[in-house]
Amino acid sequence: MARNLDPKCRQCRREGEKLFLKGEKCFTDKCAIERRSYAPGQHGQKSGARLSDYGVHLRAKQKIRRVYGVLEGQFRKTFFEAERKKGQTGENLLQLLESRLDSVAYRMGFGASRAESRQVVRHNGVLVNGKRVNIPSYQVKPGDVVQLTDRARGSLRVKAALEAAESRGFPEWLAVDVKEGKGTFKALPQRSELPSTLNEGLVIELYSK
Ligand code: SF4
Repeated sequence: MARNLDPKCRQCRREGEKLFLKGEKCFTDKCAIERRSYAPGQHGQKSGARLSDYGVHLRAKQKIRRVYGVLEGQFRKTFFEAERKKGQTGENLLQLLESRLDSVAYRMGFGASRAESRQVVRHNGVLVNGKRVNIPSYQVKPGDVVQLTDRARGSLRVKAALEAAESRGFPEWLAVDVKEGKGTFKALPQRSELPSTLNEGLVIELYSK
């Protein structure tokens, strides 16, 4: 299965902010953005280079894509699905991305990052409503119960991720039972509950150009 193999910290530096792609390291002073908050590459330190209008739109799209760890083709497909759905396309887009099983597993603390959660899913570590699902892009629906298999629950990595997530607090749209390693996706997240640094409006403009 195709996935983005670009170095994660480099992706954050390209977007100029923390995208939290590396788990616990992102919360320490080892974070590359804390150390070098300029863009990567030979000309990365040249500040003040203004982005074109297209560049601004492209960066907004790339940022969302990178946060959710989705490749271009899949992102585009998700966007068109968001457009087809009732309601606001931008909010639909973020809700579809948040409903991906790898994202839900991450929010529930089954992995320290979306990439790690994706691996837990791919390695048959997650059940949805009691059935094994190993497709990271699987859409979780409100009311669905997502839980770790006994084997995954026994992993030290998963235990550490769950504890760290619990100490930071879970989002409102989830009810998580840390002891049992399971949670309910109560409802789709509201736009106000998602990061304000994501600008889905620019993505709509980009795709309608
Ligand atoms: Fe991004 Fe995390 Fe790397 Fe910091 S440590 S640059 S937040 S991936």
